[in-house]
Amino acid sequence: MSSKNMKKATAYIHAGATPDASTGAIMTPIFQTSTFVQEAPGQNKGYEYARSQNPTRTALEEALAIIENGQYGLAFSSGVAATDVVMKMLSPGDEVVCGNDMYGGTYRLFTKVFERFGIVFSYVDTTAIANVEKAITDKTKLVWVETPTNPLMNITDIAAVAKITQSKNILLAVDNTFASPYLQNPLDLGADIVMHSVTKYLGGHSDVIQGALIMNDAALREKLYFLQKSCGAVPGPMDCFLVLRGIKTLGVRMKAHCENGKKIAHWLRQHDKVKKVYWPGFEDHPGHAVAKQQMHDFGGMLSFELKNDNVEEAKNVLSSTRLFSLAESLGGVESLINHPASMTHASIPREERIKNGLSDSLIRVSVGIEDADDLIDDLAQAIGA
Ligand SMILES: *Cc1c(COP(=O)(O)O)cnc(C)c1O
Repeated sequence: MSSKNMKKATAYIHAGATPDASTGAIMTPIFQTSTFVQEAPGQNKGYEYARSQNPTRTALEEALAIIENGQYGLAFSSGVAATDVVMKMLSPGDEVVCGNDMYGGTYRLFTKVFERFGIVFSYVDTTAIANVEKAITDKTKLVWVETPTNPLMNITDIAAVAKITQSKNILLAVDNTFASPYLQNPLDLGADIVMHSVTKYLGGHSDVIQGALIMNDAALREKLYFLQKSCGAVPGPMDCFLVLRGIKTLGVRMKAHCENGKKIAHWLRQHDKVKKVYWPGFEDHPGHAVAKQQMHDFGGMLSFELKNDNVEEAKNVLSSTRLFSLAESLGGVESLINHPASMTHASIPREERIKNGLSDSLIRVSVGIEDADDLIDDLAQAIGA
């Protein structure tokens, strides 16, 4: 059966997994080697030096392509390393249109690193397509979209943005970290590049830092592969092995994340101390219709604010949970709770954060796959504390 015809649940188990030719090992071995012996000068088995290629990484890159419905995958030592390589396709004077509610580390990379090299960024609310269209100039080479966003769960219509970028010959890259390939496949909607912080749902067990890019176009793949090997932010084989293992359970984990996320979102919403819950599964969420169309389900990420908007009270909740661990990151099997203003999004200036609707008292949760009733009991005691 061609891997392209596999249903998702099957692809997660079998993508990129061919038994090891020399031993029959069902799991791809961890090729812990820096170089490969050549038969004669310039004659090799497709592997020369492990910055350029490593068989464990090749297996993972094939798996990444298959599960994102793409032709090619590239793995990186972190999510920001993957983003970094996309930006390095650009030259001074080139312009990028991107969202105004992005992962803090992406914002820091754009403003503190690439602006210094003469790349010009316009930060717009991409949930309104007109803003994207208006920000595009004849120097725009790339549109960078994150959906759902971190931490406000804003939804951008990927297909609508793709229609604009395709008509103007501009690349569209989508950070698909929050959705994971289980919930959303941006290449199917017209994006050119999908980026993942593999650290999150793909790894799934909070034990690895890794990034990925997936694309369909061979020439684009060559450009990105050239930068991957030239700049060198490649993942080690052990990390690739861990992610290959993580992908096998992506389907069952995501199903559980979605079920728990839905229960907790609804429970929080009816709580008399909670002012607002940000979760795209609610029918009155401004992005609900688009989310319903482009996502398979609504995921386990959500944020909420307390009624009085009191920062101290929010910090009290954050310090009082027992099952939810107070930590950055997301997408692991265990539930995490986070204060974006002082943690994940502290690198964004306060006035920028407030302007974009990220209040000081906002609490973000990554709902894990524990028993939902236990998670609700934990939040109940923390909010009541
Ligand atoms: C974590 C994250 C990143 C950065 O990835 P790292 O693996 O931490 O380098 C980028 N985008 C989003 C949405 C993230 O959550």
